[in-house]
Amino acid sequence: MKIAFIGLGNMGGPMALNLLKAGHTLSAFDLSADACRKFAAEGLPIAGSAAETVADAEVVVSMLPASAHVEGLFLGGAGKPGLLENIKAGTLVIDSSTIAAATSRKVAEAAAAKGVAMIDAPVSGGTGGAIAGTLTFMIGGDTKDLERARPVLEKMGANIFHAGAAGAGQTAKICNNMLLGILMIGTSEALALGVANGLDPKVLSEIMRRSSGGNWALEKYNPMPGVMETSPASKNYAGGFGTDLMLKDLGLAQENATAVRAATPLGGLARSLYAAHSLAGHGALDFSSVLKLVQKAS
Ligand code: NAD
Repeated sequence: MKIAFIGLGNMGGPMALNLLKAGHTLSAFDLSADACRKFAAEGLPIAGSAAETVADAEVVVSMLPASAHVEGLFLGGAGKPGLLENIKAGTLVIDSSTIAAATSRKVAEAAAAKGVAMIDAPVSGGTGGAIAGTLTFMIGGDTKDLERARPVLEKMGANIFHAGAAGAGQTAKICNNMLLGILMIGTSEALALGVANGLDPKVLSEIMRRSSGGNWALEKYNPMPGVMETSPASKNYAGGFGTDLMLKDLGLAQENATAVRAATPLGGLARSLYAAHSLAGHGALDFSSVLKLVQKAS
């Protein structure tokens, strides 16, 4: 299949490489010349612009930071045309960015008006899952469009869930990330408390992992440096899932909670804690660096 892939960041780059390895014909682009160079060196064919990538594409995959980037790319703005002007009718667009459900629906409606099918397909599983091709996809859109997308999604992920109509994938994703943001802070607090009492963080992590406090952070993404070789904490919190991206997702969850009058007190507190952490200059670090907020300064 001919696939255009736009957005070669921490997630998009490895996802595009998995599609290439599966034998698809790729044409990829990122606004960052560094990102393009990095993945060109790994064999990914890079186009000169987003418009160039979609010229013969049967499927377009986008993996961008936030709502404004997705809306700007597909719909344009400030006098610039959107990519929908260049995408042929009959093409399928899979947007895997985590963005507002309302923006997903707006872009999907504009696409449908041009005969272009679109699904929202945000992911979970982190950069490890993107590299291993074991992501979980949460899909919003028509069943027939999901079935068209499935052979592509299967090369990047291990679990594919149909959450509902357009935008529903995004709603499922912000529920999940609100929970993740909260549990990373709770895990950090528990580890910092144990260490302040002289416990070895590796031993404490193993005790909690196998006890009732066990969770995804302790399994796969320990926030304490040196406990888990593969986690961003052991790489000075580089790469991974940025604090500012977590802050964006918690903001989306709070906007949504306000709209439907849901009570999300811990989600609200978590958003404020990540905001304080970002204001302290840690916005670009992996979100597990939120441990710094509760850890004794060394
Ligand atoms: P990132 O910041 O590493 O990458 C985003 C890339 O998009 C950047 O390279 C940027 O240059 C590029 N970009 C922005 N606007 C563009 C445009 N108009 N055209 C082309 N390229 C453009 O972000 P990421 O960590 O890869 O995350 C991407 C999305 O996936 C976000 O919505 C994030 O919330 C979500 N997500 C991330 C993770 C994770 O662990 N990093 C996990 C699940 C979901």
